[in-house]
Amino acid sequence: MEKTTQMYEGKAKKVFATNDPDYCIVSYKDDATAFNGLKKGTILGKGAINNRVTNHLMRLLEKNGIPTHYVEELNDRETVVKRVKIVPLEVIVRNIAAGSLSKRLGLPEGVKMKRTVLEYCYKDDELGDPMVNEYHILAMEWATEEEIKLIADYSFRINRILSEYLREVNIELIDFKLEFGKTKEGKIVLADEISPDTCRFWDSTTHEKLDKDRFRRDLGHVEDAYQEILRRLLGE
Ligand code: UDP
Repeated sequence: MEKTTQMYEGKAKKVFATNDPDYCIVSYKDDATAFNGLKKGTILGKGAINNRVTNHLMRLLEKNGIPTHYVEELNDRETVVKRVKIVPLEVIVRNIAAGSLSKRLGLPEGVKMKRTVLEYCYKDDELGDPMVNEYHILAMEWATEEEIKLIADYSFRINRILSEYLREVNIELIDFKLEFGKTKEGKIVLADEISPDTCRFWDSTTHEKLDKDRFRRDLGHVEDAYQEILRRLLGE
C-alpha cells in the first residue's frame, strides 16, 4: 500500500489516500491542541504512542466482536485503515464525572456515575462541537435510527471491554470519545483513535491523571504520562 495525495490534515493526524480506493493511511502527529484549538503545543513522542495505543486497543476490540476501521500498522506513526465516511458525531462515554460534565452539572471530578452516561456532540469546529440528542441526529439525518442504536450499543460494549482490560493494568477509564464511520458497503465501524488524547485515564490507586488533561491544565510531566500508558498497555 502506497500513500498518494494528502486528503485531510486535522489537529493531531494527517490522512492520505492510497493506490487502493478502499483504504487510507493515517499519520499521527506530535501536535496537541485543546479548547477547540485555542491552546496549541507539542507533546514529544505523542504521535507514535497514540498510533500504537490506538492500534492495540482496536485489535482488542476486534477480538471481542466490535468492527473497526483498523487494517495494519505500517510503522511507528502510520496505520492503514478502511476508508469510511465519518458519522459527524463525537460519542462521549462517561463512567466517572470529569471535565465538561462536572462543570455542567456541578459534580466534583471523581464522583462515580450511578449509570454509564452517553452524550453526542455534532462535529463542527466553527460551532464548537455542540451537544445534541437523538432527535437532532435523526432530524438532521446525521445517522438513521438503526445506525444510532448500533452506535450506542457498540459504545456501551466498548466501554465494558476497555474498562475491564484497563483495570488489570491499574488504570481507571473515567470517560472517552469515540467516532464511527460507514464503509462503502454501508457497515458502521469504529473509526478515529482511542488514546490518551481522547480518553481520561487515572491511575486506579493514586488517581494520578495519565492523559491529555496534563497538557490542557498544565500539570507537567505530559510526555511521561503518555509513555506510562504505552508501558502499561504494551509493556514497553
Ligand atoms: N474528548 C475528545 N475530543 C473532544 C472532546 C472530548 O477526545 O473534542 C474526550 C476527552 O478527552 C474526554 C472525554 O472526551 O476523555 C470527555 O470530554 P469532556 O466533554 O469532559 O470535555 P473536556 O473537558 O475535555 O473539554
